[in-house]
Formats: sequence, structure tokens, C-alpha cells
Amino acid sequence: MSIIELDNKYVANTYARFPIELVSGKGSKLYDDAGKEYIDMGTGIGVNVFGVGDEGWVNAVTAQLKTLQHTSNLYYTSPCARLAEALCERTGAKKVFFSNSGAEANECAIKAARKYAAEKKGAEYFNIITLNNSFHGRTITTLAATGQDSFHKDFLPLTDGFLYADAGDIDGIKALAEENKVAAVMIEAVQGEGGVVPLTEDFVKGLEAFCKAEDIILIVDEVQTGNGRTGALYGYMKFGITPDIVSTAKGLGGGLPIGATMFFDKTEAVYTPGNHGSTFGGNPVAAAGALNIIERLDEDFLAEVNKKHDYIIDQLSVCEGVKGITGLGLMLGIETVKDVNEVLKACQENGVLPIKAKNKLRLLPPLNIPFEDLERAVEVIKNACV
Ligand SMILES: *Cc1c(COP(=O)(O)O)cnc(C)c1O
Repeated sequence: MSIIELDNKYVANTYARFPIELVSGKGSKLYDDAGKEYIDMGTGIGVNVFGVGDEGWVNAVTAQLKTLQHTSNLYYTSPCARLAEALCERTGAKKVFFSNSGAEANECAIKAARKYAAEKKGAEYFNIITLNNSFHGRTITTLAATGQDSFHKDFLPLTDGFLYADAGDIDGIKALAEENKVAAVMIEAVQGEGGVVPLTEDFVKGLEAFCKAEDIILIVDEVQTGNGRTGALYGYMKFGITPDIVSTAKGLGGGLPIGATMFFDKTEAVYTPGNHGSTFGGNPVAAAGALNIIERLDEDFLAEVNKKHDYIIDQLSVCEGVKGITGLGLMLGIETVKDVNEVLKACQENGVLPIKAKNKLRLLPPLNIPFEDLERAVEVIKNACV
């Protein structure tokens, strides 16, 4: 049996996969089982921020792997403490909780917001407002947070206490908060799975001011937008706001599973021993890799990310087959004249692997993709679009 047949027979049927078996890679290149080369414009959904087999990351991970691979949170380890310090120093957060995925990072944020509100205002202040078209994960609670009915179907009842407003509709959020007892508002800086749709600065700033005035916790889900992806260390920084809680995952791990929930001034003391936990959370191997990544996402590096953004926009905005481009940094959604599935197939045939978000082509290349690889990928995408 081929690997594709074996997978189809034995792996749970939850993913619509492309008929490609990837076996190796280097930098922004991936290779399939026949040795065909691809330029990676998806990075495993925004995870491999420094591409495949990046030397600094591999060295950090293997050194820790050979020393001590896991301890549980009953003991202290250096990578976990140092990663928390780096995240706090770079963001202004005061405390970090580590988990293993985006959904878990959001669960942690939601629990913290509810506990904050319960203690401050009363247990009836449990509602969380999220946005229509959002995506926050696949657990029963993060599905409830996800403002898209199509994800809810067949899994009801979900966790109680989630309300939805339209992105940009600050009055809608104010009205919901007047009619209901609200603990938090949760947003993505750019709605990734929703079609790479950025929020507007006016809306985000208005929301920050409203949440501050009403003592409502502002959670920013930076699972996809975080860790340099938008050209800022975290997407919210592009809007010049300070959230109360930030969740992240994907790119933080650089290829290993890790989730992080950051608590700012208001929320730093919410959790006390016994409130929350994770066996694998803060795993030293994943944390050592993440620390290497965060240390390298400096201002010069982020300036390069923004340059690459500008290059893609310059090239694709004049392409006849492109109707529009949305997104920030190296998280872009391309609305194509042709059916996106056709465009995607042509890209794959010609050695480029972007992904999809709704009806758009989604580009999430390695943040350090060499210009020559980016040029080649953009050329293939242009040709696939017309
Ligand atoms: C991917 C994603 C999640 C879920 O992350 P998992 O690691 O798959 O649990 C949550 N929120 C956003 C914005 C995401 O893009």
C-alpha cells in the first residue's frame, strides 16, 4: 500500500488532504516522495517560521532533547522560564502560561477572563463576545468561540455564554455588552481561517477603549498572526493597542507543538495554583526551540518581513487574474478571478505550495524565505491566476 492509501485507510477521516506525500525539506523548499521540489508558501499553516531544518532552531531543540526531554510542571526548567521572560520582555506581558496548541492557549485565555470577571463583578459575568467569521479552535469551547455556524453543526450543545458581533461593528459590541453580562471580547488581529481579513485600526482602538472603560477583558488570539507573521512581533502591535490577554501557538513552536497565553497587568494574578495546568505545557524541548525563534524576531528581521510583503503586493496587485489582496505582513489572502482550487492545483503542479482560506489563496511563507525563492513562487502564482 502507498503511504496515501495507508493514511486513508487508518488515519481518522477529518482532513481533506492534497495528494502529495512530503518527505523532507530545507529552508523554504519541500520535497515529495518522488523527489519533486516545491517552494513552501504555507509553512504547515504558519508554523515553520524559519523554514525546514533551520540550523539555529534545530541546534536549540536537539541540545535540549539530548539533555532532558520532559519534566512535567512539578519541577522548574530553564527553557520554560527563559521563554516566559523573553515573551514578557518583548510584549510587556507579566506572566505566561504554556500549553501545546492554539485551542488550548485560547481555553486558558477564556478561563482566565471568566475567573477575572467572576471575582471582580460576579459569577454571572461569564459571557464572551467574539466576532462573526472568526476561528478560535476545535475543542467544544473554542468552537463556541468560533463565530461560524458551519463549524458548530453536529456538535451541539457547545459551551454556553458566547455572543457574536460583526467585525468593525463597535456599536454592536456595546449593545451586546449592555444587554448581557460580559467578561471578555476576543478578536484575531487578522481573521485567518475566515479569509485573511484584517480588522481596522479604528475598530480595534475603539474596542480597546471600550473594554478599558467597562473593565471587560480584551483577548487577542494571535495563534496565527503572532510571532512575526504580520511584520510585527504580534499582530496587535500593528494597531498600537495593549490587550489584557494574548494567546499564541503555531509559529511560536517553529515546528514543535507549543501554545502560550500571555497575561498583562490586569490579568497577571488571576490564576493561582490548581486553577489550570497541562502535563506537556512548557515542555523544555519545544520551549528551547521557541526561545530561539523569539530571540531572532528582532526589528531588522521584521523590517525584512514587511519588505517581502510589499514585494508580493507590488507583483500580484497588477496581475490580471487577481481581484484583491488582503492581510498583513506575510499572511496574505489572494482573491482570484479563477476558482481558487484550480489556481491551487496549478501552483502545486508547478512546484509551489500555498494553502487556502475560504475562497482565497492564502500565503504563509517562511518569514526568512530568500528573495529568489519568493520571486519564483510569485511568478508561478501569477501564471496560475491567469
Ligand atoms: C489555528 C488557529 C487556532 C487553533 O490552533 P490549534 O493549534 O489547531 O489548536 C486558533 N485560533 C486561530 C486564530 C488559529 O489560526
